[in-house]
Amino acid sequence: MATQGGPEIEQLIQLLARLPGLGPRSARRAVLHMIKKKQGLMIPLSAALDRAVDKVTVCSTCGNIDTADPCAICTDPRRADSGLLIVVEDVADLWAMERAGAGAVRYHVLGGVLSPLDGIGPNDLSIDQLLARAPEFSEIVLAVNATVEGQTTAHYITDRLAGTGVKITRLAHGVPVGGELDYLDEGTLSQALKARTAL
Ligand SMILES: [Zn+2]
Repeated sequence: MATQGGPEIEQLIQLLARLPGLGPRSARRAVLHMIKKKQGLMIPLSAALDRAVDKVTVCSTCGNIDTADPCAICTDPRRADSGLLIVVEDVADLWAMERAGAGAVRYHVLGGVLSPLDGIGPNDLSIDQLLARAPEFSEIVLAVNATVEGQTTAHYITDRLAGTGVKITRLAHGVPVGGELDYLDEGTLSQALKARTAL
């Protein structure tokens, strides 16, 4: 393969191409763009990467990614009395919940879902830590994805939490905001009908 722009630039392209959502083509475009904006973009980006590498850590309480342990959410005094714990598969889901304005809640990141085919069992997820935290809360929302693995994981956790007296709920599945019924798959539509609410 012909190299353009020298080995340092080629290496940068190859590394960026490994990011989710980027391939070699968009990585090359991104690198060219950065080089053209060296002062305004490339130098600040490089400094931000350095700082993040230095500071980034995983919260030992909830599994969030932050620059402090415990993380800013776990130490937020407005959330200290919250009886609501939202269980998510991944940090990206936690951040999505926060963007959606979930409110004064706390979280628990499982680190994945049960998947026997991929060899992922309960000990590969932070389920024991979740059981240890459960008595602090009055309600636990299992906000796992509506996939077979997600639902299997939700059932497993529900079984393990049985007897703790904590109320266990899950997210409603249904019609997306702005969605048209005609475009929904049958599974989504039938779930939405089952989970209908009174007006
Ligand atoms: Zn935390």
